[in-house]
Amino acid sequence: MAVEANWIWMDGELIPFDQARVHVLTHTLHYGYGVFEGIRAYARPDGSHVFRLGEHIRRLFDSAHIIGLEIPFRQGELLEACLETLKANKLPKGYLRPLVFLGSEAMGLGALNNRVRVAVAAWDWGAYLGEEGIANGIRCKISSYNRLHPNVNMVKGKICGQYVNSVIAKREALSAGYDEAIMLDTSGYVSECTGENLFMVRAGRIVTPPYGSSILGGITRDTVITIARDLGVVVEERSFTRDELYIADEIFLCGTAAEVTPVREVDDRRIGTGRPGEVTGLISKNFFDIVTGASPAHPEWRHTYTAPG
Ligand code: PMP
Repeated sequence: MAVEANWIWMDGELIPFDQARVHVLTHTLHYGYGVFEGIRAYARPDGSHVFRLGEHIRRLFDSAHIIGLEIPFRQGELLEACLETLKANKLPKGYLRPLVFLGSEAMGLGALNNRVRVAVAAWDWGAYLGEEGIANGIRCKISSYNRLHPNVNMVKGKICGQYVNSVIAKREALSAGYDEAIMLDTSGYVSECTGENLFMVRAGRIVTPPYGSSILGGITRDTVITIARDLGVVVEERSFTRDELYIADEIFLCGTAAEVTPVREVDDRRIGTGRPGEVTGLISKNFFDIVTGASPAHPEWRHTYTAPG
């Protein structure tokens, strides 16, 4: 996917897209010591909004804190930077990518004094797992790679280098002809996907791995749980094995990029009817009504802004 935009916010100012360059000796490019976010802005009939912007910025700072990285801006400043980047690029909707990384002043793992740099990019991005995936469901494979063990990596942060784990799992799944990989944790329990949290439905109840397990604390995951509970659907947070997935009535994934995407097959086994199920449909409809429709629910999730025409 080629990114098209005119402006990028970098280290405190908006600069033309082509000038947003870094040196090849940028520390983070070599060792992955940096953090990032993925945020979506949506257009609704009553105007544009960034979905749960405050929570995403909070998680960016939490990710940095987890790895001991000091961001040289306040949360409010980066929140404004996100809005400015959308407006400068005249985007009434789109995807935001804040990135915090170390500069190129020194090489080596112990370089302590490199400048901490921050960039925010924004571009128009459609359905991450495809419109067809959202409509009809995708095919997943249990990965041969495990989700990060908490004693080896930091599971609650969006940390650049850790995404190699996701990228190799995703590439493995794609090259085997599947759409997405489901990662187990190192004890063999279902964890999450490469960039999405996972839910299954059985006998009308929604089940998802607990927040305290090796999953990223997804903001869409929290949104889905809240929507389900608003609708009176029971949500259970507990561990489960891959074979429980095979016999689920429904499975769906969620994330900022993937939104709510049904899963129709896992390891070549049909899930339920092989079509997106009723509970998935209900959650998905409510989610999309809140982000792109006219639903008045949860105004606190919408950070409104006006994109110049
Ligand atoms: N798990 C992983 C590994 C992710 O990268 C993401 C995407 N940020 C998610 C889950 C979903 O999180 P969110 O809903 O906050 O985008």
